[in-house]
Amino acid sequence: MLKTRRGNVSSETIQHYIETKGDNMQLTYVLELLKPTKRKQNIFLNNIAEVVKNRQFVADKLKAGETKLSSADFKEINLPSAVKNQNIREVKALYKLFLKSDSNKDNLEFKDNQPICYNNQNYKIDGSIISIPLYTTKCQRFAFPIKQTKRFEELQQYIESGCKLGKASLFYKRGKWYFAVTIKISDKETTNSNVMGIDIGLRQLAVASIKTPKGKEINRQFHNGKQAGFIRKKYRSLRRKLAQSKKVKAIKTIDDKEQRWMVDLNHKISRQLVNLAVQEQVGTIIMENLENIRNTAKSLNRAGSTTKSSYRTRRDRNLHSWTFYQLQQFIEYKAELAGIKVEYINPKYTSQSCSKCAKVKKSNRKANLYSCECGNHIHSDLNASRNIANKYSASVS
Ligand SMILES: [Zn+2]
Repeated sequence: MLKTRRGNVSSETIQHYIETKGDNMQLTYVLELLKPTKRKQNIFLNNIAEVVKNRQFVADKLKAGETKLSSADFKEINLPSAVKNQNIREVKALYKLFLKSDSNKDNLEFKDNQPICYNNQNYKIDGSIISIPLYTTKCQRFAFPIKQTKRFEELQQYIESGCKLGKASLFYKRGKWYFAVTIKISDKETTNSNVMGIDIGLRQLAVASIKTPKGKEINRQFHNGKQAGFIRKKYRSLRRKLAQSKKVKAIKTIDDKEQRWMVDLNHKISRQLVNLAVQEQVGTIIMENLENIRNTAKSLNRAGSTTKSSYRTRRDRNLHSWTFYQLQQFIEYKAELAGIKVEYINPKYTSQSCSKCAKVKKSNRKANLYSCECGNHIHSDLNASRNIANKYSASVS
């Protein structure tokens, strides 16, 4: 069974608007700010009150026939000039619509809860911090941390891949503060027909095999897990020492460090895999659907005993499934931006069957080597990645 994971993700998310223009798709990401201090919330509210005034003034001037407007025309309004200019643009667009409509109102009217809008020159996203100009007693830049969510991670992926940011707006709803960002994404899809199968694991973090539609392997790529294993061991022994001296906070710091290191590695590996896919004219990347594995790890965690010896293996298993899943996601985002489709197949038997003669025999796999009676003797993870590519080809032909 084939399915794209992205399809599932977007149906789960409610505030997700898509606009298509030619080959470009514009997405809006609504990000929640971590709760700002009372002082900062008051600054927001004061600015919003000024935006309401500003917009009404712009509409009034437009109605009076004044169309050449700039921020200098609104000196009495306490807002950064970037926000005033954006207000002029927004209201001009709204006014055009108003004239076309058959409204019996005299002019545009603005409700109290107007968003503060910025164009892409006037806000910045740096890591998980956004910075925007606001008015206090003068124009000032403020920085706000954004709540880390899956959606935000997705946006960061797009930014990292060089997508252009568009307009943004700050607003509140039911006591929470949000920053909505639009981003332009290329919506092209390649017509290439080569297929890349990727096997993800521990000894080899990723092994890719690229095949033509006729099944001939034209290239491969290995990312071995030696360095990751070494780092894991280093942190594990550090953790053990800290646990003996009951330094809980220090353990948390170590965990975060290890996690950041893995995220960084996943970025590098996914980048190299997708670059190779582009180079070799791959149209579809195939990976295993590891969701079942993740669920198993979770349920083991819940039902499992709490003895010390099992803690480590469970902790490791969760860590692995988390980082495997993340690597797949990074590959998926980067591939989609290159116009490459991503499909998932059922992982059953991919490591046990022979990629040459299709025979399933568990004992043929011994650690790094897959050895079959038909004469196929290859690296076991390469064997798996070939099977992944084969399985997909079989399901579409
Ligand atoms: Zn065989």
